[in-house]
Amino acid sequence: MAYLFNNPLDFAEQLTEGLTAAYPKWIRQVPGGVVRSNGTAPGNVAVVAGGGSGHYPAFAGLVGPGLAHGAAMGNIFASPSAQQIYSVAKAAHAGGGVLLTYGNYAGDVLNFTQAQDRLNAEGIPTRMVAVTDDIASASAAETAKRRGIAGDLAVFKVAGAAADAGLNLDDVFRIATLANSNTRSLGVAFSGCTLPGSTTPLFTVPAGRMAVGMGIHGEPGISEQNLPTADEVAELLVRSLLSEAPEEMNGNRVGLILNGLGAVKSEELFVVYRKIAQLLDFAGLTPVEPEIGELVTSFEMAGVSLSLFWLDYELEKYWTAPASTPAFRRGAVTDTGPRYAADELNQEVKKELPSASSASRQAAGTVQSLLDAAQSVIDDNVADLGALDAIAGDGDHGIGMQRGVRAAADAGRKALADGAGAGTLLTLAGDAWADRAGGTSGALWGMILNSIGESLGDEDAPTAARISLGITQAGRRVMDFGKAELGDKTLIDVLIPFGQAFTEGLDSGRSLDETWHAAADAADHAAKSTASLVPKIGRARPHVEKSMGSPDPGAVSMAMIIRAVEHALDSKGEGNE
Ligand code: ADP
Ligand code: MG
Repeated sequence: MAYLFNNPLDFAEQLTEGLTAAYPKWIRQVPGGVVRSNGTAPGNVAVVAGGGSGHYPAFAGLVGPGLAHGAAMGNIFASPSAQQIYSVAKAAHAGGGVLLTYGNYAGDVLNFTQAQDRLNAEGIPTRMVAVTDDIASASAAETAKRRGIAGDLAVFKVAGAAADAGLNLDDVFRIATLANSNTRSLGVAFSGCTLPGSTTPLFTVPAGRMAVGMGIHGEPGISEQNLPTADEVAELLVRSLLSEAPEEMNGNRVGLILNGLGAVKSEELFVVYRKIAQLLDFAGLTPVEPEIGELVTSFEMAGVSLSLFWLDYELEKYWTAPASTPAFRRGAVTDTGPRYAADELNQEVKKELPSASSASRQAAGTVQSLLDAAQSVIDDNVADLGALDAIAGDGDHGIGMQRGVRAAADAGRKALADGAGAGTLLTLAGDAWADRAGGTSGALWGMILNSIGESLGDEDAPTAARISLGITQAGRRVMDFGKAELGDKTLIDVLIPFGQAFTEGLDSGRSLDETWHAAADAADHAAKSTASLVPKIGRARPHVEKSMGSPDPGAVSMAMIIRAVEHALDSKGEGNE
């Protein structure tokens, strides 16, 4: 468990403040994360890494000459929002384009893709490499589905060094992609981790047992076995990785990362490394500048992972190149980048609110009361939603929803005070949700509120037909963006039947109140029915057995909010307008 925190909701922000106060030599804070304090050399590619907080030194501790140029920092174990990634990339960009790189998790993919699209649309050439080193997370036939763990470092390291050597975006992308396809990792865990402010661990490993193939967000392991000796752990890790060695590699030199997940001592790692070195020697492989220590952690999880990174001449050159960051040093760096001027810091642009009819402004008050109702039902269920997500996911669904819905309600309140119409209020609430919540569900909920807001507009009082259209569009956009189909065990399995029941209710001439009531019943039923579905996408996918029998957290929270909105509409008595 974490011993030191203030308000758990402020944890990620406060650690960033402390980190940048400690290491101004390397990093400075910008909206959304950090960039190198000496900047990106003009014309060079900027390598921007990122992910949730709780993995230190990943990601902000790996920013500095020879490594990343910036890191977008999400909340604990939650992807940074697209807005955060975008603004870090803007701050790091120096004219040579941007390489975004991160571990392959659904929430990160959504948010980084959105940021990439926005940067490209603005004329900043941007490419992405999602790291997929964890061999436990999907079979060799589906490497694109694998998640990223400590192998992140191999990819960030060579990309950063190649960018600093002045290679262009195509080449930096090519090298980072090659590094990713040449890196394999596997982890084991002896105990789970407990997030600041939480009293229960995200998962537990029974005493005397070891979980094999766990992720770095407290995702439970793929299998379990009796606790082996250090040598047996070394054997398991080396054997598993060698059995998946890249086929086309004929070299015998490998980069190596023996990574402590948070609660394993360096001394224990050296005992394991002793055996690893013997086994690699026996297999005819030479480790090149092995890294042994905490590099990509998972709070105070007791665990260790091994990454092997098959090198060719070019990869070795960049793997061994000098680097200097708060948490990673190698060789001597001649550090000659430009310093940023303080006024180059991203300034927030204050946007004018679009004008709205008085009917729409009045309806905005109702919309705000619905957001408040959503906030209060999520506040009441944070722990339950977290527990549900911990069964087969990473346990952050409660916290993520809370951050998102609070930010949405706050933004709505501000928009209301500024005289926004109903559509704009909901759109701004959606932006704030996506920006503050991070994670998969944050990006999707932002999209949902945006869709409904756009459909309502600010000209007329919202009609039931406009709401219905907005919900239908939201379903389409979420499916288009997140690539989940009906039946994949996601919030789509509630959103789509809810939208259908809503449209049917209106078509059969029922009032908004009655329609919402029937559609909320359909949503409830649909959420419960996800218990029997097999997860096909998102973090639960590698954990089919654990997930079976319990409903999808995102589906459950959505049905909850729909029900809360129904009650709020009832008590307002305005549903028939
Ligand atoms: P994360 O997966 O980043 O930890 P959350 O825990 O907040 O994010 O949300 C998890 C929920 O997000 C899942 O229960 C599921 O309903 C939803 N989800 C995940 N991936 C998708 C997707 N591709 N499309 C639709 N919904 C998804
Ligand atoms: Mg989650």
